[in-house]
Amino acid sequence: MSTVVNCPNCKKQVIWGPDAPYRPFCSKQCQLIDLGEWAAENHKIATQSGNDQKVTPDMIEDIEAMLAQAESEAGFFKE
Ligand SMILES: [Zn+2]
Repeated sequence: MSTVVNCPNCKKQVIWGPDAPYRPFCSKQCQLIDLGEWAAENHKIATQSGNDQKVTPDMIEDIEAMLAQAESEAGFFKE
């Protein structure tokens, strides 16, 4: 008996469990895209550049770097 959730980004079904480390997202990419859209949403308010802002691979790399840094900082503060 598995719990199945829908990926908030692409709506693909994700089986909730150890095989889905990015749950509720289906993949790391969807997790990052969701974070990217959240960031773009904030950015939009500042720039008033309208809608349809796309998350580019560059942005995903930036977000990944940001997350990695946050993770290492969190680890550092735990020491
Ligand atoms: Zn997805």
